Amino acid sequence: LEAQLFRAQRLESIGTLASGIAHDLNNILTPILAVAQLLPLKFPHVYEQDNHLLEILENSAKRGAELVKQVLSFARGVEGKRITLQPKHLIREVTKIIRETFPKFIEAYADVPQDLWLVSGDGTQLHQVLMNLCVNARDAMPDGGTLSICAENFFIDESYAQMHLEAKTGPYILITVSDTGVGIDHEIIDRIFEPFFTTKEQGKGTGLGLSTVIGIVKSHGGFVNVYSEVGSGTSFKVYLPAVQGIETPPLVMVEVFAGHGE
Ligand code: ADP
Repeated sequence: LEAQLFRAQRLESIGTLASGIAHDLNNILTPILAVAQLLPLKFPHVYEQDNHLLEILENSAKRGAELVKQVLSFARGVEGKRITLQPKHLIREVTKIIRETFPKFIEAYADVPQDLWLVSGDGTQLHQVLMNLCVNARDAMPDGGTLSICAENFFIDESYAQMHLEAKTGPYILITVSDTGVGIDHEIIDRIFEPFFTTKEQGKGTGLGLSTVIGIVKSHGGFVNVYSEVGSGTSFKVYLPAVQGIETPPLVMVEVFAGHGE
């Protein structure tokens, strides 16, 4: 019986993970699809006669998104890679993606200090965290608004740590993703981090975005707070333990991110 229970729990968590990957890949495919659709509008002279290559791209991205939902039946590697990385480059990259792929009526800006501390983590996963929060912010502003990503160094002292269960004394970086959207009703705010909880219409939301966020942030030793007011907007605050001291990040990583520019 115990073995059966174990198996059921295992299957359940594999299912959750598989859907998590589907969700993540969808977010990766979304900008690909958006660019495929944008190119002919931006460069009509190039694509007006022949856009079948773009159609292939577009259809493949759509099929990929669909397929990924249906056939993923294996779990994501539990532990991500851990390297010392510069969150400011991650934020820059995410800001670039949302500026280029989100609707123009959403104004996006980032405010990140040059001396932002480093974190030890998985760049792809942390990228995912920010993208998921930004996609939700976008969806909360169907009539437009402002999406901001602000980062700061945040030292958690003993008195703060005593008041916040998840927090430990030490250096953190705090990334705040804010929108001026519809806000979250206080009646549902306790449920938004549950897997499969969504208020979005069918086909638009899986309810896995925030549970993926929480899963990744927790596995990095961090925590998330949410502040929201119906009608004026929402802020998600992501706290990640920072790497202290004078550790230098691996050069390769810095190079990779630096390549993307502002
Ligand atoms: P999904 O985006 O697929 O619905 P999530 O787990 O990302 O799944 O979000 C769960 C729910 O939390 C959303 O359906 C929405 O009701 C609410 N929510 C999340 N972020 C925001 C936001 N920035 N503004 C308003 N509501 C939000």
